[in-house]
Amino acid sequence: MTCINNPRFIEYLEKKVSLALKEGVDGIFLDNLFFGIFPITMGNKVSFFGCNCRHCQTKFKTEYGMNIPKLFDTNSELFSCYQDFRTRSMSNFISHFSEIVTKNNKKFGFNNLDPKLNSKLAYGLDFESYANKVDYFLFEKYYENKIIRKIGDWAYYKAIK
Ligand SMILES: [Zn+2]
Repeated sequence: MTCINNPRFIEYLEKKVSLALKEGVDGIFLDNLFFGIFPITMGNKVSFFGCNCRHCQTKFKTEYGMNIPKLFDTNSELFSCYQDFRTRSMSNFISHFSEIVTKNNKKFGFNNLDPKLNSKLAYGLDFESYANKVDYFLFEKYYENKIIRKIGDWAYYKAIK
């Protein structure tokens, strides 16, 4: 998925959703809503995650007065600010399309990967904040049941015994 902060992408998706709504569908489903690349944790460091396009850089700099770094310290204000920026961007995106779809009396939903992960960090998603904006979530799970990727507590691909 391209950047959710890119106005041209928003415009493109609005046109696609508008066309779909004219087809007498029951609802609109947006596939794989996550914001940019996933993080890789290394102790108290986190690799760049999310998006670093010109739209995100400009928006983040305007809102927080800082640049998006290539490496984050998990104890830093910058890390916290960037997670807030990312989840808020996603929330705005979801709210926008939810409004377009639901005002047409259609169902709105999207999917994502494992909800056991720290979704704010992994995908930029704060599921609780969308509870009243979507009619359903779908989750996909690609790994074995015995393996869980726990980004939230900094363990990575840790076996469950
Ligand atoms: Zn971006």
